[in-house]
Amino acid sequence: MTLAPPTPDILTPDLSRLFDAALAAQGRAYAPYSRFPVGAALRDEAGALHAGCNVENAAYPVGTCAEAGAIAAMIASGGRRIAALLVLGPGPGLVTPCGACRQRIREFAGPAVRVHVADATALRASFTVGALLPDSFGPDNLGADPRGPHA
Ligand SMILES: [Zn+2]
Repeated sequence: MTLAPPTPDILTPDLSRLFDAALAAQGRAYAPYSRFPVGAALRDEAGALHAGCNVENAAYPVGTCAEAGAIAAMIASGGRRIAALLVLGPGPGLVTPCGACRQRIREFAGPAVRVHVADATALRASFTVGALLPDSFGPDNLGADPRGPHA
């Protein structure tokens, strides 16, 4: 049984900025092996945008996802919480975050945070972190607060 993807949100100005940043990052992706370039952009709690793209490697497991790059950029610039995230990739299927990235996102986002999925032409679906990773294990399970300066 195939479920229809959730109806995407209207492309608001905020979403439009995320879309543009993810599209630009996708254009810089390093994906010579899969030829499947992905871009991701997130807005942090202060409103700053951070983007990433997939970076593959001849030693395949060493490659990293677009979401990981965007999160690393956020952390390196001082951001600690994801307010919204958009992933953009090619193909007929929805380019939703992989399982590992769902956990990466969860580290810095609560269950209500929106994760949008797009291709190069349109926003295709919108989910919440809670829908993508229900009953997740996160920093609160360990009594940690990722907002701390060096948490
Ligand atoms: Zn991933």
